[in-house]
Amino acid sequence: MTGLASTSALVVFGIAAVGVFGLLIGSFLNVVAYRVPAGRSIVFPPSACPNCGHEITAIDNIPVLSWLVLRGKCRNCTEPISARYPIVEALTGVFFAVVAWWFWAGPAASSVPIVARILELVAFLYLAAISVVLALIDLDTRRLPNAIVLPSYLVGAALLGISAFIAGDLSTLVSAGVGMAALFAFYLVAALVYPGGMGFGDVKLAGVLGLFLGFLGWGPLIVGAFAAFVLGGLFGVALFALRRARRGTGIPFGPWMLAGAWVGIFFGTWLGGAYLALFGLV
Ligand SMILES: [Zn+2]
Repeated sequence: MTGLASTSALVVFGIAAVGVFGLLIGSFLNVVAYRVPAGRSIVFPPSACPNCGHEITAIDNIPVLSWLVLRGKCRNCTEPISARYPIVEALTGVFFAVVAWWFWAGPAASSVPIVARILELVAFLYLAAISVVLALIDLDTRRLPNAIVLPSYLVGAALLGISAFIAGDLSTLVSAGVGMAALFAFYLVAALVYPGGMGFGDVKLAGVLGLFLGFLGWGPLIVGAFAAFVLGGLFGVALFALRRARRGTGIPFGPWMLAGAWVGIFFGTWLGGAYLALFGLV
C-alpha cells in the first residue's frame, strides 16, 4: 500500500507540475496570438506595455499572479491590461493539468512502455497549446496561420509515430493516417462546394486534427469530426435566436473544429461505444 500511495503522490505532483508548466505556456501563447498574425518575431523584442512601451520585467510577467498584484494595470502608466491575458494563462494551465491527468492517470492511461506514454502525452499537450492559440487567432483575425498549422503535421507525426513504434502498436498509425487524409478530404470538398462557409485554413487544420484523433481510434475520430458541426451549429442557432447574427456574418469555424476535436479526444471512445451499443453492434 505504501508503494501505491507514494506513486499516487508522485502522479499528483506530476500533474500539478504540468499545470504550472501550462501557465507559463499560456503566457507564451498570449505573445504568439498577438505577434504571429502581425508577422512579428515571437522571441524578440521582449514584451512591453502597448500604451507606454515600458518593458515588462520578469517579476511583472508571472502568469495570473502579476496581473492580480498589479490589479490589471501597467506598473508604469497604469493603463488597464486586458483580463484576456490572465484568463488565457489560467485556462491553459487547467487544460494542461486535465490532459496530463487524462493520459497519465485517467481514462486514457495505458500500459504501454513509459517512453511511448510520455511521447503521447507531449503530443496531446502540444495539441492543447495550438488549440488555445489557434482559437484565439481565428477569433481575432479569422485566420489560421500556416506558421502554426503546417509544422503541426510534422510534430504530430513524429511524436505519435515514434510513440506507436515503441508501443509496438502500428494500428494506431494506420488510423492516424486515415484520419488525417479523411478529414482533410472532407473539409476540402466542403470548402470547394461551399466557399463562404469553410476556408483553406480550416482544411489544413482538419488534417492535423484527423491525425491526432485517428491515433486514438475510430470513435474519437468520428465523434471529434461530428462534434465540431454540432457545437458550431448550436452556437449559430443560439446567435440567430438572440438576433446577433445576420446572414453572412461569417463566424469563424476553427474554434468549433478545435473544441469538437477535444470532445472526441475526451469522450469519443465512450460515445462511439454507446452509439454502437444502441444499435446492438457491440
Ligand atoms: Zn504602460
